[in-house]
Amino acid sequence: MKVRFLNCGLMHPRLAPLFVPHLDRVPCLCLLLEEEDRLVLVDTGFGTRDVSDPTRLGRFGAWLLNPRMDVRLTAREQVKRLGYDPDRVCDIVCTHLDRDHAGGLPDFPSASVHVLREEMEAALSPRSARERERYRPCHFAHGPHWVAYDEREGEEWRGLMRIPLRGLPESLFLVPLQGHTCGHCGVLVETGEGWLLHCGDAYYVMEELREGGKAPVGVAGFRAVAHMSLPRALSRLERLRDLVGDVTLVASHDQFEYRSRFGRPLD
Ligand SMILES: [Zn+2]
Repeated sequence: MKVRFLNCGLMHPRLAPLFVPHLDRVPCLCLLLEEEDRLVLVDTGFGTRDVSDPTRLGRFGAWLLNPRMDVRLTAREQVKRLGYDPDRVCDIVCTHLDRDHAGGLPDFPSASVHVLREEMEAALSPRSARERERYRPCHFAHGPHWVAYDEREGEEWRGLMRIPLRGLPESLFLVPLQGHTCGHCGVLVETGEGWLLHCGDAYYVMEELREGGKAPVGVAGFRAVAHMSLPRALSRLERLRDLVGDVTLVASHDQFEYRSRFGRPLD
C-alpha cells in the first residue's frame, strides 16, 4: 500500500503563543492511501466550502483556531494535484469528526465514512454544548454513507484494540483511543515496511511520548481543556508510549513532526 502524507490545514490558534507555544502553528496531517485503483483518505482537514465560508466552522471555533483558508491545502485539491480524480476516493477513515478533521467530507460526497459508532452518534446528535460547538452539522449534511464500528468487533493488539475495516484492505484498522472525543480512534496501517499509527489528537507533540511523559509547557493544560475525558486520554497515551520504537506514530497537529517529514517549515 502506498502511503502519502498530506497537510490539509494550517492553523495559528489565537492564544497558543501565550499559553502553548508548541502549538502556535498547527498542521492537519492526513494520509492518502493507494492500493491498486482505490484511494482511501485518513481524515480530511478543512474542506473547500470551509475555505469560502469560514463561519461553517462556528464563529468561536473559527476565531480560536484561526485557520489559514487556502483552498490549495484542501484534500480535494491535493488529490487533484497528484493527478487523481477525487471521485476515486471511495473511503475516508476518520480519527474523529471535529471540524479540523472532517471539514472535507462534503468534498467527497460519495465516499464511505468509517468511524467508531460513538463518534458518529455524538457528531450527529450532540449531547452537550461542547459537542454542539465542536461538531459542525454542515460537514455531515450531504448524508455520507456511514460505516460505524463497535469496539467489541476488535481484537487485542499490543495493549490496545484494533478493529478491521469492512470492505477495506486487511492492512487497515481503527484503534480506539478515546478521550479527546468519546469515539476518537487512531488509524493503523501495515505499510509493507512496518506499522504506521495515525494517532489523530491522542497526543499533540512527540515529547509527550517520551519516557516519563513530561508534556512541554502548556500542552498538559491544553489537554485538560481539549479532551472530553482526560483520564481516558492519559491512559491511552500510556499505551502509545509502549509502542514507540516499534510502530511509527504520527499525530495530526505536531508541527515538529511535520517539519522533519516535509523538510520545510509550516509557513
Ligand atoms: Zn484536531
